[in-house]
Amino acid sequence: MKTVMEICNVDHPNSVDNTIILNMYEGHDSHNNLAIAVKELMVQAGDLDGWIWRGYKIIVYLMGDYDYLLKMYGLSGANGLYPCLWCLTTKAIATQVPEDRPHVNPRSVETILDENRKFVASGSNLKNAKFYYNCIHRPFVEVPLDRVWIPLNYSSPI
Ligand SMILES: [Zn+2]
Repeated sequence: MKTVMEICNVDHPNSVDNTIILNMYEGHDSHNNLAIAVKELMVQAGDLDGWIWRGYKIIVYLMGDYDYLLKMYGLSGANGLYPCLWCLTTKAIATQVPEDRPHVNPRSVETILDENRKFVASGSNLKNAKFYYNCIHRPFVEVPLDRVWIPLNYSSPI
């Protein structure tokens, strides 16, 4: 598991010259490991958001595979009743053809924080996670969800 920071608005954002490895460890990206490895990094990354440096505004984006992103936002995982990071669709709705799907509300960092507070206040029983839209942990990051991306090589089955 590694966490990197890249400068994205350059010709070669993945170049070693534009990539800084923030941490790396041998192990899974479980919630407990992430709490140790990235929690403080993400607070610092959040603090950078909006800063002006040499006339450039810093905008923080978050990228990673889907399972990692769900964990970063404290959601119980893709097998939960509400598997989507960006909205409150259920698995049953998500499998319908698009024109038959009802409107579902979007998620936001604020709704995730609110549902997690309610989940914790109710006793944090994982059997009740579905009543709180699977928001079982406080997010490690507060990057707005419209700035969270899955790299194409992770999201495309082709
Ligand atoms: Zn969705």
